[in-house]
Amino acid sequence: QVGTIAQELGFRAYLVGGVVRDILLKKEVWDIDFVIEGDAIKVAQRLAEKHGVDYHPFEEFRTAHIKVNGLKLEFATTRRETYPHPGAYPLVEYAGLKEDLLRRDFTINAMAVCVNPDCFGTLIDYFGGLRDLKDKLIRVLHPLSFVEDPVRILRALRFAGRLGFKLSKSTEKLLINAVSAGLIAKAPKGRLMNELRLALREERIFEILELYKKYGVLEHVLVGIRWSPQLEKKLLSLRDVIAWHRIEFPKEKIDYGWVYLLVLLEESEKGMDFLVDISAPAWVRETYEDIKKNKKELTKKLLSAQKNSEIYLLLKNKPLPFLLILMTEEDIKEKVRVYLEKLRSVKVDLEKFKGLSGRQLGKAIEEEKMKLMDAL
Ligand code: ATP
Repeated sequence: QVGTIAQELGFRAYLVGGVVRDILLKKEVWDIDFVIEGDAIKVAQRLAEKHGVDYHPFEEFRTAHIKVNGLKLEFATTRRETYPHPGAYPLVEYAGLKEDLLRRDFTINAMAVCVNPDCFGTLIDYFGGLRDLKDKLIRVLHPLSFVEDPVRILRALRFAGRLGFKLSKSTEKLLINAVSAGLIAKAPKGRLMNELRLALREERIFEILELYKKYGVLEHVLVGIRWSPQLEKKLLSLRDVIAWHRIEFPKEKIDYGWVYLLVLLEESEKGMDFLVDISAPAWVRETYEDIKKNKKELTKKLLSAQKNSEIYLLLKNKPLPFLLILMTEEDIKEKVRVYLEKLRSVKVDLEKFKGLSGRQLGKAIEEEKMKLMDAL
């Protein structure tokens, strides 16, 4: 339909960017990006009218989006971007498809598929994106790519981690040079934080963090963080804990990326400032404070706790992310595991407490629960 509408208007429409990559990788897609050689807003408007839905134009950028059948469709007018200085927000001018593709980050994200009826389904691949997809390589389009936009350094590692790809030899060299030239610090903080938030949402965040470590990028974003064998061991241990939690308690799934971040920040002096900068959700900030204030003492008490009821009392008010982090400590892991698997779900027979109510009932139930768990 988009292609037909574009054709009626005398424009050309293309699927572009991540959606093309994901279709070629046979992944599900929900966000679909089109570029229009012509006027994207007109295409979006006509499509929205046909479906009886709203469209949301951004006149300044000549873009628009609409939502149909659970899909988000983005329409952009093909454009060229130039960067007045490294990391700056780009200057935008109208241009054809090739230049629109040339402004993109990596070859695998710079392919297009024509959707006009006369060329429907034709892949347009000026930079060898299809070959790089097959060879599992992340490759920039030109040598100044990371200089133009240093956020791409983090994006390259995010895609490499997500897809299990490597950086091409030349891209790896360019990335190493860009990192050692301190370019990351030149990128606007908001964009860096945004990129990091996207990384934290990735399923394969552990692999991404490994790449951040390998190329020494996190130090430039997260001031005060220092990689140490202990930290690495902890992250590895967290990976195992999370894999266990995903399987054992699928209904309790949380955004595990934030838990990794909490571990990274545990020893940092400026952790809270960073959480504010990255607009971390309230539960993350609260857990961070809780960890800072109480983890040492709690760990000590857990170490000496003998009875199940003691473990229960120590852990019963702790939020899940805190518990997962406690499980990264070898010597208390087992106790926290027992709490999560057994103690917190001990049930009592309420028949026994007929006649009691309010506080008295609550207290009696707790006492009975503890008796039962100590007998386990
Ligand atoms: P995801 O699956 O994470 O949504 P995506 O490839 O769709 O991946 P977006 O951030 O939505 O990523 O960007 C859409 C497209 O815009 C990318 O595929 C890429 O072509 C281009 N792009 C995004 N960010 C940049 C950037 N910093 N520099 C150059 N091109 C970019």
